[in-house]
Amino acid sequence: MSDETSDCIFCKIIAGEIPCTKVYESDTVLAFEDINPLAPVHVLVVPKRHVVQADQCTESDREMLGDMMLAAGEVARIKRVSETGYRLTANNGRQGGQEVLHLHMHVLGGRRMRRMG
Ligand code: 5GP
Ligand code: ZN
Repeated sequence: MSDETSDCIFCKIIAGEIPCTKVYESDTVLAFEDINPLAPVHVLVVPKRHVVQADQCTESDREMLGDMMLAAGEVARIKRVSETGYRLTANNGRQGGQEVLHLHMHVLGGRRMRRMG
């Protein structure tokens, strides 16, 4: 692992060095249960490639970014919230409330979401 990824908690999960409860996996994406769920359904969709936040993605990430959205839809079906509805959120940077500096999307569902802000 490079310096950037060796102290990244999500890279360690992807490498199998830290356990997770896997929900879905593809070549480019891993989805697993959030350790501190904020809703009855709370799954993180994480690209296997270490990239910090959306604005650091480039043209070469186009397929991976599409895979993240497709994975989120698959997670919604697996967790049985596709009919009741769910929220997809990606926090970016300090003011965006991002705590883990490896791009990820939250899939939240199983209760009515409050207004964002
Ligand atoms: P952020 O605030 O960066 O958008 O979200 C980071 C999310 O990662 C939080 O919801 C937090 O609970 C989750 N998280 C942090 N460390 C771990 C971990 O080791 N395992 C799992 N499954 N989730 C984690
Ligand atoms: Zn990482």
